[in-house]
Amino acid sequence: MRESHGIRRGLYLRMIQDGKELIAMIKKDKKLFDEMDLIARDEFVRCKCLACGHEQKIPSWLIAEISEMNEECGLDDHFSSACYKCEDGEVVTMDYYNKVKNREQ
Ligand SMILES: [Zn+2]
Repeated sequence: MRESHGIRRGLYLRMIQDGKELIAMIKKDKKLFDEMDLIARDEFVRCKCLACGHEQKIPSWLIAEISEMNEECGLDDHFSSACYKCEDGEVVTMDYYNKVKNREQ
């Protein structure tokens, strides 16, 4: 796991530059990801858009990576990605989604 860290980080940086296309890219490059053993088949985490409620499955390694980088940058360490559907919303993990929604009530 650890030796591919640099490669994963490079890929992540490429993705974050184009956050909207993250999911499309994962789908398109699935073969590549599989070959690099970056996405274990069962390692997807359910995430949800705070704006439109659209659900997406995000690879858990990517969530860990983003959380780690956010932490390093002194940002809130929760995962977030641009929404693939509404393009405006913020896709977060279910845990974080529920936390935010409970706070709003
Ligand atoms: Zn959305």
